Amino acid sequence: MPSLEQPPKGVVAGLEEAIELLSKQPTSGRPAKVRDEVVKLLKTLHSEAQKEQASQRTMKAPAEEAILDKLSEIQATIEKQIQATVEKQIQAAVKKLERKNNIEASGDAPENDAPKNDAPKSEVSKNDTPKNYADVLKSTATKANHQTERQKQKEALAQEQASYRTVLSMKNMRPEARKSLLAMTGREIAERCQDEINSWEWKSKNGKILPKPHIIGVKKLPHHLHLHFETSYQALTANTLKDWGNAFEGLRLHEPVYGVVVRRAPIDTPTDDKALRSLEEENNLKTGTITKAAPLRGRKKQQVDENSDDHSLVLYLNDKHAANRCIANGVNIDFAHHATERFTPQFKATQCFNCYSHGHHASNCKRNPRCGKCSENHDTRECKNAVVKCCQCGGPHEAWQARCPVIIAEKKRLKELMGRTPCLFDSWEHELEED
Ligand SMILES: [Zn+2]
Ligand SMILES: [Zn+2]
Ligand SMILES: [Zn+2]
Repeated sequence: MPSLEQPPKGVVAGLEEAIELLSKQPTSGRPAKVRDEVVKLLKTLHSEAQKEQASQRTMKAPAEEAILDKLSEIQATIEKQIQATVEKQIQAAVKKLERKNNIEASGDAPENDAPKNDAPKSEVSKNDTPKNYADVLKSTATKANHQTERQKQKEALAQEQASYRTVLSMKNMRPEARKSLLAMTGREIAERCQDEINSWEWKSKNGKILPKPHIIGVKKLPHHLHLHFETSYQALTANTLKDWGNAFEGLRLHEPVYGVVVRRAPIDTPTDDKALRSLEEENNLKTGTITKAAPLRGRKKQQVDENSDDHSLVLYLNDKHAANRCIANGVNIDFAHHATERFTPQFKATQCFNCYSHGHHASNCKRNPRCGKCSENHDTRECKNAVVKCCQCGGPHEAWQARCPVIIAEKKRLKELMGRTPCLFDSWEHELEED
């Protein structure tokens, strides 16, 4: 006798999803044991649910809901455990590295061989400014190795953390609105954004109701907002909401952009919307993939021939795989084939014109001003000293001169780092950030 009743699809499908998700969690030690036990338990539940389905007994809706709730609870607990373990492992590895490299990591590094007292201080102390090019290069090189190893650990940690957050962009907000948002507390921002989340009905593609993402933390950057969630699954769910305008006018989901440098593009290559659409068509890209095209900035004058009729053009794509295809295959502009490469602005040396150290711009500098001419603590523009002394290396030149050994060393460091960077965008990292 055929039954008209639908079998309860939710539980079986939900269990299958949970089993698959859980078994894929890479982990070790205790969390792995917990994971395996729970997977076993879920499988038992799964086969029972299947039997139930077969016998066409319908399950009451509240029971089904309760099971799904329990499942997401279990999943959240396990994700938290895995997160904690990964963090511990990374911290341990970083500590180990620090111990190994403690030559310069901190002032309290053990100095077993050095006589502690009485010995005349003939040696250059750690905090002395290096005096010549070789010194600077030596110290920077060791530091660079040290940083690279640390960098790997940090990147692994960053990757793990990134999966728990959603990034929103404030670039389309009015300046006053952005300012007042940045003046709010994390709690206030979280509440407004949570209201926005709560006003939505979250459904998966097949119509299943998803648990609402729950914000547990907020990080404010000059142009971006990070919302941290309890689980990476929640962050993934929240990533489907593109327009956060009801929480804050102009607030949007930050969609990463991937830059591709097109070599020797004609200098008169049009970059308006219409031109970009035909560029997409010519290169077999989906419509809307290229969001912007702009000349590569900051090339040195002497490298550009005054009469040259081509230049490097940067294409900004919103799809990583499309960007990788452009890097691998090159790009055609009006039937002319051009070589391409990944755009890596993070390896361009930046010097702060407030404190003259590297890696940040004056607009983001939180340090006291240092004079780029005489190295005293005042704004360079107010300098009345006749002596020229570099605040970076102590040498007789201004702090921005290309011959400064610190600048040479920094450029060398970045070049080495760039050499180790993959040619293609990999699965998770290096979207272009302006913060
Ligand atoms: Zn600075
Ligand atoms: Zn000065
Ligand atoms: Zn210098």
